[in-house]
Amino acid sequence: MTTLLTSQNHDSHDTGMTYIYPVVSRRARGVSVGINLNPNNACNWRCIYCQVPDLTRGSAPPIDLAQLEEELRRLLDAIVRGNFMQERVPEHARSLEGLAFSGNGESTASAEFGAAVAVVERVLQEFDLLGRLPVRLITNGSLIDRVPDALRHLARINGEIWFKLDAASTDGIARINDVRLSPQGVLERLRLCAKLCPTWAQTCMFALDGEPPPETELTAWLDMLAQVKNDLKGVHLYGLARPSLQPEAPRLTRLPQSWLDDLARRVEQMGLRVQVSA
Ligand code: SF4
Repeated sequence: MTTLLTSQNHDSHDTGMTYIYPVVSRRARGVSVGINLNPNNACNWRCIYCQVPDLTRGSAPPIDLAQLEEELRRLLDAIVRGNFMQERVPEHARSLEGLAFSGNGESTASAEFGAAVAVVERVLQEFDLLGRLPVRLITNGSLIDRVPDALRHLARINGEIWFKLDAASTDGIARINDVRLSPQGVLERLRLCAKLCPTWAQTCMFALDGEPPPETELTAWLDMLAQVKNDLKGVHLYGLARPSLQPEAPRLTRLPQSWLDDLARRVEQMGLRVQVSA
C-alpha cells in the first residue's frame, strides 16, 4: 500500500532503504531527503525528548558508502524524474526543499561522515542540483572538533549546520541531554562550528513534570546565545513535535505557542533571528 508522506511519517523502511529517507518538512514547505548514518539507533547522547525508537548509547556503525550513494541516487531520481511527488507527497508540499544529515544518532560520530559529504556532492552534481539545495547537518555538536575538514566541505556545497543547544548549564544539559558537559566547551564548539560552516542553534523547549524550564536555565541559555550572536545565522526554537520514545516520555508536555513566542522575543531583542515551530 502506498501511503502519503507526512512530517510524522518518515521511516526509512518505508522506502526499503537503509540510509536514505524522504520526509515532508515540519513546516510542510516541501520534501527533504534525510541521510541516516546511524541505522543502529545509537547516539552518544540520550536526550529525554528523543524520538529515536530503541535508542542505545553508542557510535555509528561502518557505512556502506556504495549503498548510500545508490540509495540517494535512486530516491533523487524518483523525486526529480519519476512520479514520487505525485504518488507520495501532499499537493501543497511537492517541491524538493533540501537534504539533511539527520540520523537516528549523531551523524558526525560516523567514521564515514566526511566521505558521505563527498557522496552527496557527487550525486547532487549528477542531478544538476549542486548549490541549488541546502545540505543540512543536524548535530548535537559534541564531536564537531573532530570533523573540521568535512564541515568546511559541507560549507562549500551550500551546507548549513543546526547545532543542538537545549540548555547551557551543566545541570540543564545533564537533565535534558543526559550527558555531562562543560558549558564553556559547548560554547567553544559552537563558535568553531560557526566558523567552519553557516550555523543555527537549535533548541527544544518543553515542560518537565508540568513546569517550563526555570528562569535560571533560560538566563544561562540566553547568555550563551549572546556570546555567539555575531557568529550564528539564528535560532530554531522547537516545541515537542512528536512524542518522546524515552522512559521520561510521560513527564514531558508541550509548552503553549505563546510561551515559545515570548522566549523568541527575548532572543530577537539581542539581535538574533528566530524561527519558532511549536
Ligand atoms: S542527539 Fe539527537 S539522536 Fe542523539 S539522543 Fe539527542 S535527540 Fe536523540
